[in-house]
Amino acid sequence: MYQVTLIPGDGTGPELTSSVKEIFKAAAVPINWEIREAGLKAYERVGSVLPENVLESIRQNKVALKGPLTTPIGEGFRSVNVALRRELDLYANLRPTRSYKGINSRYENIDLVIVRENTEDLYAGIEHMVGDDAAESIKIITRKGSERIVRFAFEYARKYERKKVTAVHKANIMKYTDGLFLSVAREISKDYPDIEFEDRIVDNMSMQLVVKPELYDVMVTLNLYGDIISDICAGLVGGLGVAPGANFGEEIAIFEPVHGSAPKYAGQDRVNPTATILSAVMLLQHIGEEEIAQKIQTALAAVIAEGKVVTYDLGGDATTSQMTQAIIEKL
Ligand code: NAD
Repeated sequence: MYQVTLIPGDGTGPELTSSVKEIFKAAAVPINWEIREAGLKAYERVGSVLPENVLESIRQNKVALKGPLTTPIGEGFRSVNVALRRELDLYANLRPTRSYKGINSRYENIDLVIVRENTEDLYAGIEHMVGDDAAESIKIITRKGSERIVRFAFEYARKYERKKVTAVHKANIMKYTDGLFLSVAREISKDYPDIEFEDRIVDNMSMQLVVKPELYDVMVTLNLYGDIISDICAGLVGGLGVAPGANFGEEIAIFEPVHGSAPKYAGQDRVNPTATILSAVMLLQHIGEEEIAQKIQTALAAVIAEGKVVTYDLGGDATTSQMTQAIIEKL
């Protein structure tokens, strides 16, 4: 029996993680969930958005599934998601994007992977006012941070037999920060002669992804660019409802959908559970349960391909619970 931490999350998070729990139960996945509250709910209950027992549980279990957490914009506490990634040094954010039959989108056969650096860049949170009328934010890029994220991307490419790694940057303008990342990427690429390497400037990359996504494979990039281009990729395959993700450190991994807490739909049983289910499928692959992972992914893909019991964003009118039940029936 695996012991896995489960953070239900804010907004629609609890509905989505419940969907995973039901599917895992039906598939007899040998997981014992250790449920820990973080975010707004934890704040209301114990006065902290990231109570120590959440970190303790994840440090002990080494694996967690997380629903999205709400971060107030421009005020209040800093992002719990960012704090979790930094506290546990989860430096690599992996976001695979692939097309599913039955989802209306601009392209078929999309198969892209974004490896996003998770701990540095403008997300370092070194930001302050300069007098009343100016503000300053400091971008941090280190050799160590760049080396480990680029190596993670190449190791991933090798493990999953991918052909090419593209480093995405803006080194033409940010010659020191992005320049350091790019020069490290070039150096490390020499250790992987079996994998093609190239680089792209982020604005060009964004355009290329929209017009020629088939030219790309694995992309490795800095925190902010990774955040933005992964939403572009989600848009290429049918939106945020189908985009899974994972955060990896040396020993710990947290799996979570790319999307946020979609608070306007909270409690309505309306949102698409696919991104959270696919994140949980990645969790199963991570712990070595490849066969069950495959079974759940196939059942989900079949429900989407039939298009009868799917949520609003996929053109249907099913609820989260109905779509979950349809997947369970396929299992
Ligand atoms: P969001 O991803 O929550 O929602 C944007 C829109 O995308 C929604 O209004 C909805 O139309 C659609 N959407 C999202 N998830 C969907 C799903 N599963 N099924 C169908 N449609 C879906 O982004 P937002 O509104 O910018 O952010 C809301 C909150 O979530 C903010 O507080 C933000 O900070 C937080 N957030 C958390 C995470 C995380 O926990 N990792 C990530 C992003 C945003």
